[in-house]
Amino acid sequence: PVKVVIVGGVAGGMSAATRLRRLDEQAQIVVLERGAHVSYANCGLPYFLGGVIEERDALLVQTPEALRARFRIDVRVRSEAVAVDTAARTVTVRDLASGEEYTESYDRLVLSPGARPFVPELPGVERVFTLRDVSDTDRIAGELAAGARSAVVVGAGFIGVEAAENLRRRGLGVTLVELAGQVLPPLDAEMAAPLAAELRAGGVELALGTQLTEVRDGEVVLDDGRAVPADLVLMAIGVRPDVELARAAGLAIGPRGGITVDERGRTSDEAVYAVGDAAEKRDALSGESTLVPLANLANRHGRLVADAIAGRPVSARPATGTAVVQVFGLTAAATGWNEKRLRAAGRRYQALHLHPGSHAGYYPGASPIALKVLFDPDDLSILGAQAVGADGVDKRVDVLATAIAGGLTAPELADLELAYAPPYGSAKDPVNMAGMIAENLVTRTDRTVQWHELDAARAAGASLVDVRTAAEHARGAIPGAVNIPLDELRDRAAELPDGDLLVHCQVGLRGHTALRLLAGLGRDAANLDGGYATWSAGQ
Ligand code: FAD
Repeated sequence: PVKVVIVGGVAGGMSAATRLRRLDEQAQIVVLERGAHVSYANCGLPYFLGGVIEERDALLVQTPEALRARFRIDVRVRSEAVAVDTAARTVTVRDLASGEEYTESYDRLVLSPGARPFVPELPGVERVFTLRDVSDTDRIAGELAAGARSAVVVGAGFIGVEAAENLRRRGLGVTLVELAGQVLPPLDAEMAAPLAAELRAGGVELALGTQLTEVRDGEVVLDDGRAVPADLVLMAIGVRPDVELARAAGLAIGPRGGITVDERGRTSDEAVYAVGDAAEKRDALSGESTLVPLANLANRHGRLVADAIAGRPVSARPATGTAVVQVFGLTAAATGWNEKRLRAAGRRYQALHLHPGSHAGYYPGASPIALKVLFDPDDLSILGAQAVGADGVDKRVDVLATAIAGGLTAPELADLELAYAPPYGSAKDPVNMAGMIAENLVTRTDRTVQWHELDAARAAGASLVDVRTAAEHARGAIPGAVNIPLDELRDRAAELPDGDLLVHCQVGLRGHTALRLLAGLGRDAANLDGGYATWSAGQ
């Protein structure tokens, strides 16, 4: 029987171990885990801190005993792999309880050691906490129990935002510090704006475009000179693949700092596989190496290497990096590339924004979803999508991630047959609507200007017409816009300024109708994409 040693007993490692057992009853499977726990729910840790998950035991999804009983896996906790000899095919293991070391041989080795939170050099940095595993969580919970009243969370990525929300839930005064000028840098700025407002409304102080210069007892100092109270400082500015063991073993490390693997998860040594946060992935858009430290890929790739070891023909699908996060009453989700990244890479793209209801407007409880789709103007493939709203966001982004995986074009989204009844959606689902907008752009039925292109278009001489009602215009308008409501546009066409026209409404839909009406009158115009809602979010 084949002997497989697995380093890391959580997402990737344990997926590989259990799948392998299901495929091969004879295999000898040894899992080495440095920590005291295996198969714990990293993703649940912030919610345990916030008291949403009440029982600590709920985080421990499996125990070594249960894994032994059901899967006959030799699970060794507090056992650290300290060296790998790829020539001899052995691992040196340190028993952290006794301090003793021994050698374990393998036919196949799977590395799933995860990633480490990045902690920068900083005066006083030894005082900061990070959140990666159950013991980190126990330490932070200890601070809360000891009466911590204030917290500074550094980094407004997924984990930072989740931690900030949950520390607020526990009643702490929380400041969230982020170097970028926006929260949740994976989203584009205009999509992240409502999330910043939601965090503030939830009582989280935001310090954007700011970094820490020093950590002191009970406070931190920011680079604008401000001191902020902090009984607890949590560093969440990203993770680095944990590659020390692999590097020392002579395995190839890729351009992004993760372990290099092929499409079967095999490293530069044919007997060694690597998965999860420690391993590089292939990006679905560029084909280049990338890092996607998310649980879905760690789990799927754990299963995939078990299949590969069992001799099955498998090949990892390139990664799109689909993710979702709760921000108090809102949800934000994204898949594929964002506009910032497309622009930085010099890729051609077309963006579209819409703000449809989460379900039919006449059924109680509907709320708007801000939805953004990016597609390739040449081959029309979907490059990425982002959504923010109180309800129905995860579903729309998952459909769009599936559309990307299936190779649908943006206009083809218009033609998806999606489930509908009033409590759940609309007969034209938001995803369908995005496809219709794409189709109108591709067929040149519509021409749009983005929120960040508006000033340049007006500087070039275009006049802006607000086709919303007078009441909407009075509540908030783009400076200098002429207000002619859509329903009066035919009759008041003579009042339209000469020259190039830009129209806008609240979300883009009435603007589209205005464009068609004006086209019928022989006037060429462009619509402000996403309307006033997207423009104002971008300010
Ligand atoms: P891990 O699950 O981290 O497991 C690695 C294990 O290897 C660790 O237990 C470590 O102790 C052990 N190890 C390392 N080196 C050695 C060694 N030399 N010897 C023995 N053992 C070793 N992802 C999502 O998709 N959605 C979420 O909502 C989400 N929320 C998260 C929230 C938090 C607070 C954190 C920390 C992560 C979250 N993630 C989320 C990310 C997700 O948890 C990871 O992508 C996933 O766990 C990676 O799996 P992995 O097997 O690579 O590493």
